[in-house]
Amino acid sequence: MDAGTRRLSMPSLRRAIAGDSLDAARLLVANQWSQVATGGVGGIATLLREKIDLNIIFALIGGGTSGITVASRLAEDPSISVALIEAGGFYEVDNGNYSVLPGLSLSSPFLAATESYQQQPLVDWVIFDPDAFSTTGGPLQVPYSNWVDPALTWFQRAFTAIGLPISNEVFNSGSLTDRAAWVTSTIDPATGERSSSESSFLEQAVSNTSLIVYTQAQATKILFDSATANGVSVSTQAVSYDICAKKEVILSAGVFHSPQLLMVSGVGPAALLEHYSIPVISDLWGAGRNLWDQLIFGVQHKINLPIQAQLISDPQSAAQAVSEFLEDASEPYSSLNGMIAFEKIPKDLRSNFTGGALTALDQFPVDWPEVEYATATALGPDGSHLGLIEAALSAPVSRGNVTISSSSVSNPPEINMGWFTDPAGADAQVAIAAFKGFLVSRFAGLTIVETNCGIKLP
Ligand SMILES: Cc1cc2nc3c(=O)[nH]c(=O)nc-3n(C[C@H](O)[C@H](O)[C@H](O)COP(=O)(O)OP(=O)(O)OC[C@H]3O[C@@H](n4cnc5c(N)ncnc54)[C@H](O)[C@@H]3O)c2cc1C
Repeated sequence: MDAGTRRLSMPSLRRAIAGDSLDAARLLVANQWSQVATGGVGGIATLLREKIDLNIIFALIGGGTSGITVASRLAEDPSISVALIEAGGFYEVDNGNYSVLPGLSLSSPFLAATESYQQQPLVDWVIFDPDAFSTTGGPLQVPYSNWVDPALTWFQRAFTAIGLPISNEVFNSGSLTDRAAWVTSTIDPATGERSSSESSFLEQAVSNTSLIVYTQAQATKILFDSATANGVSVSTQAVSYDICAKKEVILSAGVFHSPQLLMVSGVGPAALLEHYSIPVISDLWGAGRNLWDQLIFGVQHKINLPIQAQLISDPQSAAQAVSEFLEDASEPYSSLNGMIAFEKIPKDLRSNFTGGALTALDQFPVDWPEVEYATATALGPDGSHLGLIEAALSAPVSRGNVTISSSSVSNPPEINMGWFTDPAGADAQVAIAAFKGFLVSRFAGLTIVETNCGIKLP
């Protein structure tokens, strides 16, 4: 069964097509617009530079993980009106099953040596964030998967063998270092589908509150009355309009677009803004600075075991995978994550670090891990079964920055990730220790072959 056929059978999309949940948000938008427009094509034309003043109290820019959640929580108060302005749409509609079915996102050869395969930028599954739990509960689901890739059980043995024991205490407690554990995922155990801020908080808010959702609506500028934000300029398919906000404009457009929007709106380093003829609202040197990124690198090795992606893509097992998923939300389609581990670089490897690197790493709390190890399986470009162990720097010292290349959000922001730029070289030393010490030495006997090449480092 291909993704297209399958998509039609997904419960959430059925609900959307029936118009009782996700599409209800679109209907809200349409209703909102109809209050401004006078109808038909001429009506849309009247939206040009029209001000939408519907007593909106909070206007949130960016309907991602955090924006949806904050907007939905604010809208629980029936006395206030909240608008959520999102440049994109609903992932169930825009990206279909790749963003709905956990296992499907793993079925393409995402480790191909070239970049010509279909990328899935909307696949952004998250594992647990401790702050997601509340004492009274909430709509987001954070369980263990209904199914685990059998090949990952071998990684469990590997971690134990090298001194990172499998712990029964899940990482949700916030205690991470020097152990491995099976992870919980944001997947609804009842349906086996992704549980996201959209499918949990937004669906609930659309049903129970008066939250107004503007989709395909790109915020182009934050509007100010003197130094107080009081609205947002928005563009939808070349139609521009302003949304007024009585109390606050909340910016949650993500790590790159939030600073970009601030700067094109006049909040940022004065010299930079003046260079692009942007009137300065606030000379804020730090806008776009202090960007942290967690570099990931790893090794992969051919393995002779059944793996999740193969169980989904192999015609022999695919039909069974589909029917078992439909029956009880289990089997490969319902699962994504496996097991991860965190550690501080052990003493023997640490003894090679320079004094400067050790001092730089001392800024982190003593129980803060320096490396996260993640395990996965994948199909190689030639259909081979691959086992992967990846290391991510979880205490990065290097800092990057985001800046603008014009006065308009139409031009992408300029991003400098700043990898390996810390003066003490701490990130490079941790990365080398993780790579040589863990991924290579501690799994001695593996043949390391570079198949998925990144940039060449000096
Ligand atoms: C590949 C990948 C894997 C990840 N894995 C994990 C994980 O396993 N665990 C974990 O905890 N975190 C993970 N993360 C990080 C996590 O996804 C982010 O921390 C989280 O999504 C940040 O939420 P946010 O709301 O700040 O931004 P986002 O979720 O990025 O939302 C920003 C939103 O703003 C919208 N937007 C941008 N510009 C505009 C504009 N001008 N007008 C209107 N809307 C706009 C965007 O369309 C987007 O919807 C991962 C991230 C990536 C990229």
